[in-house]
Amino acid sequence: MFGLMQHHPLLISSLLVHAERHHGQQEVVSRRIEGDIHRTTYRQLAARARQLAKAMAALGVGDGERVATLAWNGYRHLELYYAVSGMGAVLHTLNPRLHPDQVVWIADHAEDQVLCFDLTFLPLVEAVAARLKTVKHFVLMADRSHLPASSQIPNLRCYEDLVDAQDDAYTWPVFDEERASSLCYTSGTTGNPKGVLYSHRSTVLHAFGAALPDALNCSSRDVILPVVPMFHVNAWSLPYVACMTGAKMVFPGAGLDGKSLHELFEAEGVTVSAGVPTVWQGLLAYVEANGLRFSTMKRTIIGGSACPPAMIRAFQATYGVHVLHAWGMTEMSPLGTVCSFRNKHLAMTEAERLALQAKQGQAIYGVDMKIIDGNGAELPWGGEVSGELLVKGPWIVDQYFKGEGGQPLIAGWFPTGDVALIDADGYMQITDRAKDVIKSGGEWIGSIDLENIAMAHPGVAMAACIAAHHPKWDERPLLVVMKKPGATVTREELLAFYEGKIAKWWLPDDVVFVDAIPLGATGKMQKNKLREQFKGYTLPTA
Ligand code: ADP
Repeated sequence: MFGLMQHHPLLISSLLVHAERHHGQQEVVSRRIEGDIHRTTYRQLAARARQLAKAMAALGVGDGERVATLAWNGYRHLELYYAVSGMGAVLHTLNPRLHPDQVVWIADHAEDQVLCFDLTFLPLVEAVAARLKTVKHFVLMADRSHLPASSQIPNLRCYEDLVDAQDDAYTWPVFDEERASSLCYTSGTTGNPKGVLYSHRSTVLHAFGAALPDALNCSSRDVILPVVPMFHVNAWSLPYVACMTGAKMVFPGAGLDGKSLHELFEAEGVTVSAGVPTVWQGLLAYVEANGLRFSTMKRTIIGGSACPPAMIRAFQATYGVHVLHAWGMTEMSPLGTVCSFRNKHLAMTEAERLALQAKQGQAIYGVDMKIIDGNGAELPWGGEVSGELLVKGPWIVDQYFKGEGGQPLIAGWFPTGDVALIDADGYMQITDRAKDVIKSGGEWIGSIDLENIAMAHPGVAMAACIAAHHPKWDERPLLVVMKKPGATVTREELLAFYEGKIAKWWLPDDVVFVDAIPLGATGKMQKNKLREQFKGYTLPTA
C-alpha cells in the first residue's frame, strides 16, 4: 500500500520560492568587489534569479549544461546558485585559487558552456579564455561601467545587462529531483581532480540535515556569514540553509582579512559563521591585537581540517563564541559529522569539554559511518582502535562525474581516506588522513594530535607534522613550525612542551622552523609539499 500524500520533488528552486514567499523582507547583504556594501532582500533576489534564468536560456544554456562560476561569496553568486540549478542546468563552481592550468583542465572536463566571473578574476579569465575549449560566453559579474574598454576575451558579456534585458515572469520548471544540480571538483592532491555531481534531492536533503539543531543549528533568527567560499563545496550548504530557514545572509566578498571580517560581523549583527581554521587564525590575531570583541557572534562552524583545541578555547573562553567542529568532504556535500553536546556533557569540566570538541563529532541523520581494519572488517566503537572511515547516505557520492576514478564504493560504503576513532557514544575523531599517517616501526602515529599540541604553544602560529625517513623505524615524526611574529620559541622548548601530553614514542624526533607552511586552494596545509621539501631530511639520532 502506498501513502496518500502529495508528491513534490525536492528541487533547489523550492528553497528560493520559500524564502521569497515566507521571508521576503529578509536581508541579503554583500561586501562587493566594487568596494561598497550592497543590500537586497530574498524577494528582490528571487526576482533577479528568475530574470537570470531567462538570460541563461537566452544564451542557449540547455538542460543539464554546465554554467561555471569564478566568484567570491556575494549576492550575484547566490543568484547564479538558484537560477542555474533552478532552470535545470548545472552550476559548476570553479576554485579561482587553483593554478590556471588546473582551471582550464577542470572547465574542459566539465564542458562548461558559460563562465561567469567576478571583476577580481578578469586577469585570470583573460589569461585562460583562449584555451577554454567549450566556453561560448564569458559573463563579467558587474555592471556596464566596470566592463573593460577592450578585452581579449571573446563574447564578453555584462551580467547586469543580461539580467536587465529580461523581466521576471518565469516559473521554475518542475522535474525529477534526482537530476543534477551542481558540480564541484575535489582539489586533487593526488592525481587529477574528480567531479562530484550533486542532485537536487541530495542538496535539499543535505540542507535539511545541515540546519538541524545538533548540526549547524540555523533558524530565521540567525544572521549567517559564510567565510567558507561558495566555490568550496557549496559553502557547506549555507546558501541553501539560509533560504530554507529564512536567515539573514551576509557575504564577505573578497574581504577575508581579519579587519574586513570583524567589521562586517559587527555592522550586520552576524550570529553564525563558518570557515577553515586558517581563516580564523587571521581573524583571532586581528581581534586580539586590537583589543576587540564579538558582540553578536554566537557560534562558528570550523572544519575542512582539524580545529586545534587552542583555537576552540580562544573562541569560547576569551570571546564567548561557541565552536562547532565539523567534518566532511566534497564527496559528502560536504557535511558528515558535527561536534555538539549531549546533556551529559554539560556537567563536564572545561578541559573535558575541550577534549570532546577536538573530536569531529556525531553523525548527522542521513549519514552513517563505520571504521574498518586493513582487511575490511568493521572495528568496534569505544575509542581504542582507529581504522579507515567509511560513510554512506543520500548526499554522499555514488560515482564521480564521467566515471573518473572507477567505482569508488566498497559494498555501498564510500571510503573517505581518513583514519578515525569512534567513541562509545558515536563521536568520531579523525586521527589522520591515510596518506599523512606516520608509520613508526609498523605502528601508526596520528599527526593531527601532534599538531594540535604544538599549536597550543603560545609561540606557534601553525604546525604540521610529517613523516621523515628513519633508518631504524622507517618513519618518524618531524614537526614543521611557523612561529607567531616576534615569538622566540626553540626546538627544545617545543619538545619539552609535549611532556606528559602524549606517549613517549610519539614525541617528534626533530623540529624545523619555516617562514611559511604551504596552504592549498581550500586553505589547508599541504603536507605533500612539505614531505617533498623535507624528503632527504636527516633526523638526529639519539
Ligand atoms: P580535498 O579532499 O580535496 O582536500 P575536501 O574539502 O573535500 O577537499 O577535504 C576533505 C578532507 O578534509 C577530509 O577527508 C578530511 O581529511 C579533511 N577534513 C575535513 N574536515 C576536517 C576536520 N574537522 N578535521 C580533520 N580533517 C578534516
